[in-house]
Amino acid sequence: QAKEHGLGWYRMFESSMEVDLRERRAMEQDLRAALLRNEFALHFQPIFDTNLELVAFEALVRWMHPTLGLVSPAQFVPVAEACGLIIPLGEWVMRTACLAASGWDVPCRVGVNLSPAQFLRSDLRSTVTTILAETGLPANRLELEITEGVLMENTEGAIRALTELRDIGVRLVLDDFGTGYSSLSYLQLFPFDKLKVDRSFVQRMEADEGSRAIVSAIIAMCRSLNLQVTAEGVETIEQFDLLCARGCHELQGFLLGHPIPQKNVEHFIRRYLLAQVGPPVPPRAAL
Ligand code: C2E
Ligand code: MG
Ligand code: MG
Ligand code: MG
Repeated sequence: QAKEHGLGWYRMFESSMEVDLRERRAMEQDLRAALLRNEFALHFQPIFDTNLELVAFEALVRWMHPTLGLVSPAQFVPVAEACGLIIPLGEWVMRTACLAASGWDVPCRVGVNLSPAQFLRSDLRSTVTTILAETGLPANRLELEITEGVLMENTEGAIRALTELRDIGVRLVLDDFGTGYSSLSYLQLFPFDKLKVDRSFVQRMEADEGSRAIVSAIIAMCRSLNLQVTAEGVETIEQFDLLCARGCHELQGFLLGHPIPQKNVEHFIRRYLLAQVGPPVPPRAAL
């Protein structure tokens, strides 16, 4: 821009920031094309309760880039959010996740992450309603995950949006709890069904007494407010035990299962169901 205006100092400002902006523009173009070419895919990560019952899967978007391979959402979701592409992408994620879940052999829930831009749109309620009707997924099997930042900026609007969603019957989840700055009293204001403790706390639990105390307090508070709690990022048996002992309801993390490609979910569920009933009993004659 500065160059177009013939400003001689343009070069001086060709800083890393400028390069970032150019890279971002390029990525925006790529994302637009990717959406048209169906280059996005969903992975699903299982969530279990303390009895190791499969209770949900979280849908996590991936970009199957033709040359870069699988690109993580941490790299492109912020760009998609900034340029508005998150709206059609987010709708694709929700429809694909609901359609998948409606065909599973277990009636477990499916978690879908909502970006702030999606959450703040006035047509979100009708989008969700339409997708549930199209896919036949019962509303109470859809969990919408929202991070706390968006609640702070516009509390009134957030309460209204959450209440509308709750009226449809979907479940509302506060994601990454503990990473933002919302006060505990906020929890009471919003009609959440569940809170997810951010994995940074879970991962410090074993080594750090302070983190154990914080997680204990979060779980105790949720239980007294009638909120369910899920722990994210459970990687070790020690973390699993500490969380169960403190009354955490649900657990998610590499210990229990990595995110798996959508096409493998049915097989995962079959294996889970087999393990639940135990191996087939051989006929008597074979013993
Ligand atoms: P999130 O919603 O907090 O999702 C959990 C992230 O933690 C996932 O990363 C998951 O792979 C990772 N994770 C799960 N268990 C473990 C563990 O035991 N250890 C470690 N180290 N990590 C674990 P992923 O898939 O890279 O997604 C990152 C973030 O991108 C998500 O965080 C979410 O905020 C965002 N995201 C993913 N899919 C979507 C989407 O469809 N829409 C929107 N708006 N955001 C999305
Ligand atoms: Mg999430
Ligand atoms: Mg999370
Ligand atoms: Mg997190």
